[in-house]
Amino acid sequence: MRDEAVAIVRRLRAAGHEAFWVGGSVRDLLRGVDPKDFDIVTSARPQEVQSLFPRTAPVGARFGVVLVVENDRPYEVATFRTEADYDDGRHPARVAFATAAEDVQRRDFTVNGLLMDPETGRIVDYVEGRGDIERRLIRTIGAPDERFAEDRLRMLRAVRFAAALDFTIDADTFAAIQRHASAIRGISAERIREEISRLLTSGGARRGMELLAASGLLAELLPEVAALKGVDQPPAFHPEGDVWEHTLRMLALLPGDADARLAWAALLHDVGKADTRFEDAAGVHFYGHVQEGERIAALILQRLRFSGEERSTVLALVREHMRFMNVREMRPNRLKRFLRMPDFALHLELHRLDCLGSHGLLENYEFCRGKLKEYSAEELRPAPLLTGRDLIGMGCTPGPLFKEILDAVEDAQLGGEIATAEEARALVRRRWAAAGNCRPVS
Ligand code: ATP
Ligand code: MG
Repeated sequence: MRDEAVAIVRRLRAAGHEAFWVGGSVRDLLRGVDPKDFDIVTSARPQEVQSLFPRTAPVGARFGVVLVVENDRPYEVATFRTEADYDDGRHPARVAFATAAEDVQRRDFTVNGLLMDPETGRIVDYVEGRGDIERRLIRTIGAPDERFAEDRLRMLRAVRFAAALDFTIDADTFAAIQRHASAIRGISAERIREEISRLLTSGGARRGMELLAASGLLAELLPEVAALKGVDQPPAFHPEGDVWEHTLRMLALLPGDADARLAWAALLHDVGKADTRFEDAAGVHFYGHVQEGERIAALILQRLRFSGEERSTVLALVREHMRFMNVREMRPNRLKRFLRMPDFALHLELHRLDCLGSHGLLENYEFCRGKLKEYSAEELRPAPLLTGRDLIGMGCTPGPLFKEILDAVEDAQLGGEIATAEEARALVRRRWAAAGNCRPVS
């Protein structure tokens, strides 16, 4: 990837243009981290870029961005430009081709505004970005109030970069975010979802969430989560403190490549506790917090336009998270059904985080892991002893009762009470046919 990104710059230069690496790749190289992609800027106009490379696509023609494809990998090659008239608080209405020095002025943060000559390693720094990388500081290029008014998404980006890079947000930049936080609501749901997802899954999720709260952005975007602050829990079960602290501790355990569905479930699993907290002589209770949490989580996921698949997985994670408390009392049939639930690995991991974010006891977690090892795939998901066809053969009329009968047969099979089709038939005759429920085909 790197070699190709060098070759693209060389080729542009050979044709008489200026060309550099820019943005995240330069920042990461200076931090001693392998860049995950290389963006290129050049004085060449889009048409000139297209004429120099055999495979290109004009992805952002309006902005002068051309995708150059080398070895099946795409590289963004952008013509130096200025941007102006951000009329909707997000997108510039006008762009104009410009010089390298002008181009970096439109970029968001000093640490993202560095240029590099990949052939010599020379850094071109018009914005004091190098010093800010050394100081580990996120600072806007230019006046923060103006830059956030131009594009309010930058507020979320500031928090995301601070969390993922483990940098501090410069005091003036942070104060400006606090002043502009309420404007974040104008951003599209998709962009907000993407930014928060990246915040939760790039490392530093706990700090990211704390910065989001301190900046005022959380109260705008996820007031239901902001409401978890100060919701006290019984210390016997939650020595760590309130629901907010518990949630943060779980986020702190997410790796830098966390599954987004798991991360959102960790954030939302106890979101029903703010509304259901109830205290009496016996202590503090959260009766119905799971149901309420699922309801609130559904509203949030809907609002942020998650896909149906992601929504249903996150909601299942929220809905099932308390069932781990009972795994050791479950009969084998229930336990096996529980263990073979879709995405069980995510459920189990959420439970582990839930425990480690609190009392730290992992008995139920270890119990499930042990059972998963103990049961063969065949034991967890045995071939059915009977089918609907068999029931018809036994003289039953197809109908809603079939599911109940077949589930009961599977329960008995999972519980080890029956093991053959003959035993299954006997069970059906005893419980349904003999009772007259399994109505004969007329
Ligand atoms: P990441 O590692 O997250 O990809 P990145 O710095 O490469 O970080 P991108 O979102 O890929 O970030 O954007 C590439 C570059 O484009 C940034 O480094 C920055 O210079 C510029 N940029 C991106 N988004 C904005 C924005 N909203 N406002 C100003 N400049 C931006
Ligand atoms: Mg990038």
